[in-house]
Amino acid sequence: MIRKYKVLFIIMFIVLLMSLQFVDARVKPKKTLIGKVITLDAGHGGRDSGTTYGNIYEKDLNLEISKQLKKVLKSKGATVYMIRNDDSDLSSKWDSAKKRGDLYRRILKIQENKSDLYLSIHINYHYHSNVSGAEVLYHTINPNNLVLAESIMNEFKSDLNTDREVIKTNLYLYSNTRVPGVLIECGFISNPNERYLLQKESYQVKLANSITKGVEKYFKEIEKVI
Ligand SMILES: [Zn+2]
Repeated sequence: MIRKYKVLFIIMFIVLLMSLQFVDARVKPKKTLIGKVITLDAGHGGRDSGTTYGNIYEKDLNLEISKQLKKVLKSKGATVYMIRNDDSDLSSKWDSAKKRGDLYRRILKIQENKSDLYLSIHINYHYHSNVSGAEVLYHTINPNNLVLAESIMNEFKSDLNTDREVIKTNLYLYSNTRVPGVLIECGFISNPNERYLLQKESYQVKLANSITKGVEKYFKEIEKVI
């Protein structure tokens, strides 16, 4: 009798193992980003709310989107560092210019992490509430920045409702590091429809998937050139 149970148990165990393997093979995403180090810079934080609409703060949306993005990038095998994981900024009480101190430390973190690339996540504002759409900004300090910006912008155009284009920026953070990276404006807080979407987890995941596809294509592109 005991022997019978033993055999039954072994059979059940084998069936369980096989089914687990099957599920694993089905849900496992392709690990296209193994060995890549990506730093996520959720814009603003702490004393700096970024742009706001009522009690909706850019800094909170930036962090939520960055957390979703981290999950998707990690599922592809990337090593992901977050410049901030909570509602804090990187300025020091000794900084005479707090905003500059905050941005300076973000640059240091990107460089310390030996990042293959960094992504700054922000939300836009326009005084015309009908203006909408995600867009990507880049600095010419590194020619790869434009490649990265266009790769992500192309995914936005096919996945999201945007007809915007990549834009050059001369902002402090982006002009002071040669590590490839871009500033992603995920949408306009000033536009009622986009404001609604940006707060929804499903839309944040959609943005994260789109950005990740752009990052994958960027690496394919630059590795082809080299
Ligand atoms: Zn911002």
